[in-house]
Amino acid sequence: MDSAFVRQSQVPNPRLRIVDGHCDTLQFIRRGTIEFRQGNNPTHLDLPRLKKGGVKVQFFAAFIHPDLGMKGVTRVLELVDAFHAFTRSTDGIRAAYGYQDILQFNEDGDIGAILTVEGGEALGESLGVLRMLHRLGVRVLTLTWNVRNALGDGVLEGEDRGLTGFGVEVVREMNRLGMIVDVSHLGPFSLNGVLDVSERPVLASHSNCHALCPHPRNLTDDQITAIAAPGGVIGATFVPTMVSRTDPSLERLLEHVDHLVRVGGIDCVAIGSDFDGFNGFLPGLKDAGEMGNLTTGLLERGYNEYQVEKVLGGNLLRLIKDVVG
Ligand SMILES: [Zn+2]
Repeated sequence: MDSAFVRQSQVPNPRLRIVDGHCDTLQFIRRGTIEFRQGNNPTHLDLPRLKKGGVKVQFFAAFIHPDLGMKGVTRVLELVDAFHAFTRSTDGIRAAYGYQDILQFNEDGDIGAILTVEGGEALGESLGVLRMLHRLGVRVLTLTWNVRNALGDGVLEGEDRGLTGFGVEVVREMNRLGMIVDVSHLGPFSLNGVLDVSERPVLASHSNCHALCPHPRNLTDDQITAIAAPGGVIGATFVPTMVSRTDPSLERLLEHVDHLVRVGGIDCVAIGSDFDGFNGFLPGLKDAGEMGNLTTGLLERGYNEYQVEKVLGGNLLRLIKDVVG
């Protein structure tokens, strides 16, 4: 494995652009409980560890708990405020609103931060709020968390009634605005509803394969195929219980990557760590500073450099370019 590629990936390699499609670190930044810039935090992710791991683009989710109901609008604005405050005040990371920003920031040596929202409760059942969140820089919306909301049903809802009329309107408006629809957490009928309505490829930002680990949040082979066929992207996630019931590890995670490639093709596979969204850690990938282990692991499994670049960032960048612009 002592190729020039690996050696280069240990120092920043401009060709290998690691893009992480999901983290929950923003809630800690909002509460002021971590020193994002300095590091040494009890979290999975901060600036020194993003740099050490070679992450060039990080999605930051504003997580809106379903219990917030209509107060979700207030909470999302607080989290958006925290996102803009920390990206403005921290050298080395900048708020990115599209593909060209990412290219420019990376060329300058900075990390691009993409603002996302997890939980449609953020919309207060209003398309106007959706449009304003887009103006405030939100480029991705995860329609639901695990339960029902005004858009559709989450995967742990007893009965999935599918995408609602409002959910259909939200997907259409997101298509029009150039926002990426994130289907992670959706129940199966609601997910089908999105795929029926959306005219743009979608993202499952943090989901693994049900065939390898039968967790309710993981995607069946049919779902993987349906997301991948129109150009959608799936971020393999590091949540230990979603990697393996018995033996969660980097190697088991890479088996999910293999399976996604086999079922959906190399162009659908990405990474969505969910760092700071779960307790504990995945052995071999304990925090953002260890992201480089993915590069080595994929090369050892026989992926060529071109394929590694796609999985670790290229595919998600292509989705941003296509949908957001
Ligand atoms: Zn999540």
